[in-house]
Parts: sequence; C-alpha cells; structure tokens
Amino acid sequence: MNEPEIENKEKVVILGSGFGALGMLSTLDTKKFDISVVSPRNYFMYTPLLPATTSGLVNFESIVEPVRFFGHRTQKDFKYYEAFCEDVDLETNTIHCKPVQKSNSFSLQYDHLVIAVGGYNETFNIPGVTQHCNFLNSLNDGRRIRNRIIDAIETANLPEVPEEEKKRLMHNVIVGGGPVAREMASLVQDFVQEKLSSLAPESESQLKSYAKVSIIKTDDHIHNHYDYAISKCYEKKLQRKEIEVIANTIQAVGDKEIQLKKGDSTVSVPYSSCLWLTGKTIQPLAAKIASKLEEQENSLALVVDASLKLQGAKNVYAVGDCATISQKTLIKKWEHIFLETDLNKDGVIDKDEFSVLTHSLSKKYPGLKEIIRRKQEFFESADINKDGKLQSEEFVALMQKMDKILTRFPSTASTASQQGAFLGDHFNSGEHLKEETDHVFKYKHIGGYEYIGAEEGLVERGSRGTAIITGTPGATWLWTSAYYSVLVSLPMRIKVSTNKLYSHIFGRDISRL
Ligand SMILES: Cc1cc2nc3c(=O)[nH]c(=O)nc-3n(C[C@H](O)[C@H](O)[C@H](O)COP(=O)(O)OP(=O)(O)OC[C@H]3O[C@@H](n4cnc5c(N)ncnc54)[C@H](O)[C@@H]3O)c2cc1C
Repeated sequence: MNEPEIENKEKVVILGSGFGALGMLSTLDTKKFDISVVSPRNYFMYTPLLPATTSGLVNFESIVEPVRFFGHRTQKDFKYYEAFCEDVDLETNTIHCKPVQKSNSFSLQYDHLVIAVGGYNETFNIPGVTQHCNFLNSLNDGRRIRNRIIDAIETANLPEVPEEEKKRLMHNVIVGGGPVAREMASLVQDFVQEKLSSLAPESESQLKSYAKVSIIKTDDHIHNHYDYAISKCYEKKLQRKEIEVIANTIQAVGDKEIQLKKGDSTVSVPYSSCLWLTGKTIQPLAAKIASKLEEQENSLALVVDASLKLQGAKNVYAVGDCATISQKTLIKKWEHIFLETDLNKDGVIDKDEFSVLTHSLSKKYPGLKEIIRRKQEFFESADINKDGKLQSEEFVALMQKMDKILTRFPSTASTASQQGAFLGDHFNSGEHLKEETDHVFKYKHIGGYEYIGAEEGLVERGSRGTAIITGTPGATWLWTSAYYSVLVSLPMRIKVSTNKLYSHIFGRDISRL
C-alpha cells in the first residue's frame, strides 16, 4: 500500500551536485520533504578518479553519474535545475539562479537551504597562474591536460624542433604538496612513458632522455598527511621514478617559463604544462553569502556550528569543502562544562576531574579521542601557574584549544559525504526544527588511497595504520573501491574496473580527445 502524501512539506533547496549534496540526498527521506537541487553540473563526479582519466587509465564517462540517474537508482524523489545559484536573499528565504543554458533567470523559495558548492582554486594571486596553468576540477580540465601533454610530445617528435625546445616540451610541472599533486606526478610520468613507447625507437630513446616531471611543493613535507614511514617510502618511490621535488617559491608563471625565487635571485624554469593543484579557497557564492553576515569571520570557508548550521543565518546549512565548523562549540558552554566537571565543588579542576571530563567529551565528540591518550600533556600545558589545578581562565584556554582539535576535518570527499549524510538524518529526525540540539556531526576517518605509479598504491587504513598494495589494475581498483564503497556506486565500480582491466591488457588510451 502506498504511504499517504504529506501535505505542506517543508521546502529543502540543495545547492550543488557533489559529494556533500549527494551524501545528503542518500539519507534524506525524500517523501517527507519537497526537495530541489540546483547545480550547474548535471552529474555527480567521482573526483578521486579524475587524475586517472587524464592519464588514459579510466574513461572520462566512467567516473560520472547523472544527477537524475542517481535519483532513479536510489529511488529518491527530487527536482533538479541545471543552473548556478547567483545570490541568496537571507531575509526572504529566496535563491536567485541563472540557468546554464540560455534562458531566463529564476528564483526559488526555501524553508531550509543547504549550501554544498565546494571550493575554489587557490592561486595566491601569483601572476600568470590563471592564464597559463591548468586546474583539475572537471572532465574538461582532465581532457585539456591530457591533450596538452600529447600535443607537446607530438611537437617534440617533429624533425625541425631545436633540442632546447624539445627539452622544454618534455618538462611537465605539478604545483602543490597534497596527495592529489603527488598522484598526478606519478600518473603524468606513467602516461608520458607509455605515449613515448608508441614512437619510432630513435625518437623514443631521445625524448625519453628529455622527459621530466617536477613537483613544486607548497607544503613543508611532501607527504604530511600520512605517517612518517609511509612518507619516507613515498619520497624514495619518487626518487626512483625520477620525479624532481622543488621547494622554491613561485614568483610568476609565464607561457613557457616559471620564475622561482632562489635565495636573493630569480631562476627561470622552462616548462611545457603546469598543473596547479595547491588546494582550495572560498567559493565566490559562499563568499557573497558570508559577506552578508557579521558572524562570518573566516575568509576561507563558511562557518557552521557543530550541527552544520550556518552561523548568523536561520534555516541555512553548509557542508563539504565550502564549510568549516565553528571553533566555539565548547567555549560557548565552558561555564556549564566547568561546573559539571568540578565534582567536589572547590572552584578548580584537578587531574582526576579532568580525566573524567576527557572521557565524557570524547564520547560525545569522537574527534576529541586523542585527548584521552594525551590528557596529562593537555592538563600540564593548560596549568600555566603550575599549581596542579585548572582555574577558570586556564580552563577557558583549554576549551579553546580543544575546539580547534574538534573542528579539524580534512577537505575530502569522505568528509563532505559524511556531513551530507549527517544532515539528511538531522532533517529526518526533526532535529533541524529545534532551537538547541545535541545532534552534532561526528567525523569518522575511513583512511585513504594514493596511487604511486605502476599500479602500486599507498593505503592509509585509519587507525589500522598504513600499507602498500600492488596487483593487477582491476584487483587494485576493486580493493580500493570496496574501501570507498560508501562513496562509489556499483555501476561506477563495474565501469571503472572494466576500464582498468582493459588498459592493463591492451595498454592505456593515449589518443588525443
Ligand atoms: C582532482 C581531485 C582529486 C581528488 N581526490 C580525492 C581523493 O582521492 N580522496 C578524497 O577524499 N578527496 C579527493 N578530492 C577532494 C574531493 O573531491 C572534495 O573534497 C569533495 O568533492 C568535496 O565535496 P563538496 O560536495 O564539498 O564539493 P564538490 O564535490 O566540489 O561539489 C560542489 C558542487 O557545487 C556545484 N556548484 C558550484 N557552484 C555552484 C553554484 N553557484 N550554484 C549551485 N551549485 C554550484 C558544483 O557544480 C558541484 O556540483 C579530490 C579533488 C580533486 C579536484
């Protein structure tokens, strides 16, 4: 029997069709709400595999799923509009949108708005980056990078091209210190080698001797997200693959040369393609919304509370790369926590009382688990006057420190997806209607996978440490997709496994697209 339709459903508008948005749709009871999704991208894209598409390992169309197809597959009922949200009127609960296709602008009313618009390329205002570098956010970006590398090899293969120019054409640069940058370096190198092996033997050996991939790193450590042993292993792998790691600051990017600061002077590095993967800053729409709210003081993302509600706004939420959780979760109620922790009511917190507090806080906020292990260290660093007790001022400083730990989530697909799923549950259970709620987002670290070349990968398994996996491409992918099963649909897993197996048997696709 069909369930009776709920009348006057609350209108939920979701901006975006990425991990955050689909995470929410996957848990939200679409029968209870009137849902509209607005996004210029009419498909969901599995970004962790975008680098693999540029190197011909996986087909571009294999890593996407149309938004409406997702709705049919998961039996979720929602309306989708292919448009950019250009502005949000927080007074009248209205969003203003511009369609992707040539058509009139339109507006939508919401009872609840969920902003899941992702991040925006961070260029640090370095001259020439926007004009000359490639970014990697879309399928078109992936195609452009691949074609640029192929075009450079074909040009270098021509008879009248001077040697110096051939060397420049064979130098591909990746800028960034994160896992995506490192993965791209390995993939570009594998791709170039495979493309070169299709040339005549003399050209192949000449161009192979010129082929070079460099990473200009923007982080302190090449592999700072993983543990030290894996980090060392990765650096050795890079050396063996002859990927040069450059630590100098970029001053400007020209069309054929990158200017690097070296001591007091500037050196020019000739390059063919420069892939800019330095992380994200605030997305323009998110910045526009933030500028309307006094409470929004963070210049890099929208600030939300522990239930992902936008600070300073009513009925508005933000998830994923465009959001950061307020660092005031504990400090806001420090007096209450202090009174509860002070079991013997002597007006100070001793070590035993603090120990009880660490257990109760980490139960409520799993992100604070590390304070149980480090409670002694935390207590001692907070105890400024070294009297073995925490006075109220010392306690306040400690709460601020813990707030920072609590809200430190990585900007990843998994975080966005978990936040979206949390919000779906939040709405289903009616928690969104309460003024005060204890239903707060709890991050679960699922680990990560990073390609290091030649079908080898580094796997970080959350609390179970790290491992290196090798094997046939199909097996490796199946293993990692099982790992990421919360994020990847079955049809996508089948398509990608088939692509990987195909490229393993017949070689990767090196044609210009
Ligand atoms: C190349 C690459 C590789 C990556 N690899 C990994 C990885 O291996 N593992 C991992 O965990 N993470 C990885 N990430 C990071 C991961 O993709 C992001 O953290 C994740 O996509 C964030 O999800 P989101 O929903 O916040 O944003 P997104 O997934 O970026 O989605 C944003 C959505 O908002 C839409 N949008 C933009 N502007 C508007 C507007 N004005 N109005 C309406 N909609 C709008 C966009 O079209 C898009 O649909 C990678 C990212 C990239 C770029």
